[in-house]
Amino acid sequence: MALQGQAFSDHLAHLEKQIDRYQGLLSGSKRLYFAEDIETDYKLHSSSAFMRSSRNVLSFGILFYLSFGVSDYAIGNEYKNTLWFIRVFIAGALLTAVTILFNRQLMRWVVPVVTMGMIIIGLSILVFINILDEPYSYAYHFGLIPWQVFILISLRSFLRPIILASTTVFISYIIFSYNQDFQSYNSELDALVDTARALFILFWVLLLAMGIYLGYLMERDSRIDYVKNHLLALEAQRLTLLSQELHLLSTTDALTGLANRRHLEYCYNNEWRRAVRAQDSLAVIMIDIDFFKNFNDQYGHQAGDQCLRQVSEALMSYGQRSGELVARYCGEEFIVLLPKMSLSRAQNLAEGMCRKISNLEIEHKGSELKKVTISIGVAAMIPTLQDQPDKLLRESDRMLYLAKANGRNCVMA
Ligand code: GH3
Ligand code: MG
Ligand code: MG
Repeated sequence: MALQGQAFSDHLAHLEKQIDRYQGLLSGSKRLYFAEDIETDYKLHSSSAFMRSSRNVLSFGILFYLSFGVSDYAIGNEYKNTLWFIRVFIAGALLTAVTILFNRQLMRWVVPVVTMGMIIIGLSILVFINILDEPYSYAYHFGLIPWQVFILISLRSFLRPIILASTTVFISYIIFSYNQDFQSYNSELDALVDTARALFILFWVLLLAMGIYLGYLMERDSRIDYVKNHLLALEAQRLTLLSQELHLLSTTDALTGLANRRHLEYCYNNEWRRAVRAQDSLAVIMIDIDFFKNFNDQYGHQAGDQCLRQVSEALMSYGQRSGELVARYCGEEFIVLLPKMSLSRAQNLAEGMCRKISNLEIEHKGSELKKVTISIGVAAMIPTLQDQPDKLLRESDRMLYLAKANGRNCVMA
């Protein structure tokens, strides 16, 4: 249903303001974050995209973490049961969380909880390193690398969570590894461990820096995509609105708001063909205001327009069923198109119309009854292929002429 007048202008202005705003975001500064309202919307959008794409990746990551239980058994010695228990407990809790969270209502919590889960897994690796004796624990240091890469894969375009999870575990690692005063009583081995640890941290820093830059690029692209998609949707809404309005303008009469003659002719031809096919009766009511020239002469053209509006408003309530149409034919003449209607029913309707207009009691000194009245011609037929389509219109026009001749304010069928 097309909007009318002010509502249409308001809606269009609102859409265009939005379009300008989103276009400004594309051409504007390099800032990563949006204003509050758009940011809220983007967060919901990106969380729901995350939910759609990440469930399997996350489950796979947790199972991958769980699979390292094999190494707990291989090198865990007397701690293997402790390690295995911690691992199963964390993996189980996270799998449960993923399963529960991937439910629409909890969408806002998905990214924060996944970030927390990542931190817990990272810290658990530090705990494993702490529990185990050297040199068995060294193997677990390497576990931090796939963990770091997995963060980048799973959190991709969420820069802040990537930074939060990575740096929390990274800083914990540094504090923890330099607080361990392990001495192997073999100075060469100690020197090697020191160097290896420094290199390991350096590599991690590089990985972290590249990862954060990658996260920045991914988040920026994701935001640009979001803005572009939103713009497309707004443009589509604007086009729909404009085309509805255009349709309305091309089918309605500006003064009365009734269907215009172009639309009447289009509908009339359709209904005629339908009636031929279905062999239904098609009825036409032709209405003309009596002594309307006098009305204009007496009260002026503005008052004449006002009178046309009042009459139209009264006629508008007719033609409510599907296919029925009330149209302004020309000047002070109107046509009501009534598919599947017999002559007698159309005549009844027309008589009601006559009474209704007369009951409006619009003063008209130049008319015999001193008020505005209408005359009506009614015609109905079951058209055949042999009939000319304008036959019904000509017939109703002839009836209208008879009604005028018959003293006006009456119906001829
Ligand atoms: P009759 O009872 O025989 O129908 O007489 P009439 O005066 O109504 O008929 P006529 O066809 O002579 O006059 C129609 C008048 O309707 C002429 C014209 O000024 C007026 N009219 C047509 N369109 C408009 C319009 O949009 N606004 C106004 N105010 N008047 C209009
Ligand atoms: Mg006329
Ligand atoms: Mg007239």
